[in-house]
Amino acid sequence: MRTLKKLALAVSVCFASQLSYGAESDRTNIIFLIGDGMGVAYTSAYRLFQDNLATPELDKTIFDEMLVGMATTYPDDHNQVTDSAAAATALATGIKTFNGAIGVDAQHQPVISILDKARELGYLTGVAVTCQVNHATPAAFIAHSDSRQSYEAIADQYIDLKINGKPKVDLIFGGGQEYFVRKDRDLVKEFEAQGYKYIDDINKLRKVKKLPALGLFSTGGLTPAVESDHPLRLAEMTQKSLELLTQKSAHPKPFLLMLEASQIDWCGHANDIACAMGEMRDMAETMKIIKQFIDANPNTILVATADHSTGGLSLGAKGRYQWEARVVRNIKATAPSIARQLLDSKANWKTVWQSLTQIKLAEDEQKAMDALIVQANENNQEFISGQVTAQVLTFFDKYTSTGWTTKGHTGEDVQIFSYGKGKETFQGAMDNTDIAKKLFTYLK
Ligand SMILES: [Zn+2]
Repeated sequence: MRTLKKLALAVSVCFASQLSYGAESDRTNIIFLIGDGMGVAYTSAYRLFQDNLATPELDKTIFDEMLVGMATTYPDDHNQVTDSAAAATALATGIKTFNGAIGVDAQHQPVISILDKARELGYLTGVAVTCQVNHATPAAFIAHSDSRQSYEAIADQYIDLKINGKPKVDLIFGGGQEYFVRKDRDLVKEFEAQGYKYIDDINKLRKVKKLPALGLFSTGGLTPAVESDHPLRLAEMTQKSLELLTQKSAHPKPFLLMLEASQIDWCGHANDIACAMGEMRDMAETMKIIKQFIDANPNTILVATADHSTGGLSLGAKGRYQWEARVVRNIKATAPSIARQLLDSKANWKTVWQSLTQIKLAEDEQKAMDALIVQANENNQEFISGQVTAQVLTFFDKYTSTGWTTKGHTGEDVQIFSYGKGKETFQGAMDNTDIAKKLFTYLK
């Protein structure tokens, strides 16, 4: 009799724990990855950039594997071309708003994001980006402001706005120390007081053993991938985030993880093709890591998209029917950093140019560069460095046959990529706000 009772008790305990596990496992993990500025030309360029030249066919990319739809990106004002704030608000909240707006609608009223909703429902939440963590795209998921430029006020909200008595985000990785450690407020100390483990160096990622965690790895944005010691830093942060968000626990919780390959956009604004491809590689490797994770954890949906395109990038320019991926591959730094190194090396600049780009310049081009570098002195350093950067970019575009139409954004549709549970939900043509609306339905 006693044994039977024990058995019944054991069964009911087991059943109860199964029930709670079952209930949790019905809730879908959400990974939302944004390639800032990643228009169609960027994924096409990346296909050529990563192609294995040893094989005759053009290799498919992870973008090709996961492509499911297209989205319009226009904001809710007189503009047809969005900025990152309005687009991020659309993607985070499902509401169209004006350029510059962070998590507020056209009437300047705060709107709830998928991260807010996930948090209210008890999800774990994470954000990992390669810009400063309080930059427009991640900010729209966490904060509310009429102006994306209010960097300090936005950073304050990361700790001041609480849901169920706690900060909204369990894991924050990216750049932005200068906005968190200030004269008037030390937000890092405040996060630590709330139990967060803080690290200030990406090399210390492995020291983070549990949530909550805050990692700020640079004063502003992280070093551009093309010249970073961690060229796959978003992939690294993603791997670590997934590990932390799925740690074994007596009460397992689903998670929402927002990721951004932030600097595709910055390279686009700079019209720097090698810089852009460095960021694209990090984005692609991040998607591969997520794919592996979803294969092992099928109760997860990945949606990846862009907020808009940047720079009016074109493969082929000035009537030339060619795009030289091989040339792009050999470029080892961003144009401003190459300019700095050329100026530092003075008369020896040709050797440095060769090692950083492997581009053989024509004689008149060498003369033009020589003339610029000779002019440099202490008083005109900045001006000449700007001139050299512009010259370097002209050479990149000429020798790679890359075109750009603007230093700003462009208004064409962007691609939607998806993988995992219910990826067909994101199939077809839609508006950027529909992506968030659909993600809201996953949250229960
Ligand atoms: Zn931009």
